[in-house]
Amino acid sequence: MTTTDHGEGLPVVPHWINGAPWAGAGGRTGDVYDPALGTVTKHVAFAEDTDVETAVLAARNAFAGWRALSLARRQAIMFRFRDLLDERKDELAEIITAEHGKVLSDALGEITRGQEVVEFATGLAHHLKGEFSEQVSTGVDVHSIRQPLGVVAVVSPFNFPAMVPMWFFPVAIAAGNTVVLKPSEKDPSAAVWIAGLFKEAGLPDGVFNVLQGDKVAVDGLLTHPDVCSVSFVGSTPIARYVYETGARHGKRVQALGGAKNHMLVLPDADLDLAADSAINAGFGSAGERCMAISVIVAVEPVADELIARITSRMAALRVGDGRRSCDMGPLVTREHRDRVASYVDVAIEDGAEVVVDGRKIEVDGDGDGFWFGPTLIDRVPTTSRVYTDEIFGPILSLVRVSAFDDAIRLVNSGPYGNGTAIFTNDGRAARRFQNEVAVGMIGVNVPIPVPVATFSFGGWRQSLFGDTRAHGADGVRFFTQQKVVTSRWPEPHQGELNLGFPRNE
Ligand code: NAD
Repeated sequence: MTTTDHGEGLPVVPHWINGAPWAGAGGRTGDVYDPALGTVTKHVAFAEDTDVETAVLAARNAFAGWRALSLARRQAIMFRFRDLLDERKDELAEIITAEHGKVLSDALGEITRGQEVVEFATGLAHHLKGEFSEQVSTGVDVHSIRQPLGVVAVVSPFNFPAMVPMWFFPVAIAAGNTVVLKPSEKDPSAAVWIAGLFKEAGLPDGVFNVLQGDKVAVDGLLTHPDVCSVSFVGSTPIARYVYETGARHGKRVQALGGAKNHMLVLPDADLDLAADSAINAGFGSAGERCMAISVIVAVEPVADELIARITSRMAALRVGDGRRSCDMGPLVTREHRDRVASYVDVAIEDGAEVVVDGRKIEVDGDGDGFWFGPTLIDRVPTTSRVYTDEIFGPILSLVRVSAFDDAIRLVNSGPYGNGTAIFTNDGRAARRFQNEVAVGMIGVNVPIPVPVATFSFGGWRQSLFGDTRAHGADGVRFFTQQKVVTSRWPEPHQGELNLGFPRNE
């Protein structure tokens, strides 16, 4: 990671433009915390309009050369990047833990899932193949070509500083585009580290740029005439704004939004598996995952037994500094921790039963860290904000229903449709569930059903604005545009004058 000295003596995380760190034109910066220590450890440069201009210009200037490079050479660079990433992922994991707070093993997990997409992109030549139809009319052939768009923008959230950018840029770059990535200002260093690694792998300058900052940077990209597309991941209100603004400015946009994922437990489920899964998917990464389970829907009579098994397991969870051997780290900021913790009082006011209260925990870490422990709340009314809001923290709510139909109705009645899971041994119930739920990613006895890179990632309803998802076939379609060529090679002097619409004969 490259930083420059500034102000209070703390390092400033720079932009990365045209193959090198770039301090930026303005003096605006943001604070970057170590959430386990609760202190500011760095600043990050915030882009002004001129920095947006510099980044987009670098990407635009690099486009012609990158696009003209053979697929074989582009892929060779992607292979080198993949190998370097694999060798040095421990370094990246440490950077992620120091700014996000997730435990090291979890940081390594997100890198590995991102690396899957890099591996997918090393084989992109296969997905870029066009189609060919011979003799569609007498002496006439038709073929299609997939070409890159040009400069593409990626705007990513704090919760996966490596994996979410990697959902997009490997496919975009392998397809011949050049990229400007705007990472979250909360954990900006991973993006710069990745940019440096790509340079080491031989990527030409200007093909992958990082623009740090806030709304100014995002708005600059959304309205810049040379930016062809925007891939956004973040909360639903910002996703909607990005989708509408980008579309209004003529861009192709995919904007992935928030979530509130339900896990159904049917009476015939393996309750030990369900209890382990609820804990792993509810409290992993302190619940700061868009595919986290936040609501357990227990189809009676399983609720009491399930609560008992979850509670007994929760006692063993160790919360603390992600660099130590803990299960769960801190939340990302003090404000976010306080907001998440405030839902415990909301639950009590709304008549729910707080079974485990995350405000009362022992921590293996600094007292100033942004701590809030795993929390379990039973009998949550579906009118409570605990049920309706995306909390994005380690709070598992349990809702009791008397029938499978009620459970399906509940999954379909909220605004989000990102992920959901069913725990059952009844194949017919599982089949009906996957057929009827209005959700993009479904797990059957799998709590976090994040699709592998060869498939596409994305939700339904307010969890995705746009009609293409991340990576897999959708990713290839999003980052390319198609041409169809109709050609013939007639013998000399075979033309004739005919103003009628061409017919195939
Ligand atoms: P966020 O919406 O606050 O920020 C996302 C990005 O938008 C950041 O880069 C941020 O700098 C930028 N941004 C923030 N405010 C903006 C504004 N007013 N105008 C323009 N840009 C703005 O999200 P977050 O807190 O970083 O991440 C958590 C959210 O992301 C959760 O809602 C989570 O569900 C969602 N998420 C969704 C997915 C998915 O695949 N659907 C994946 C990961 C995270």
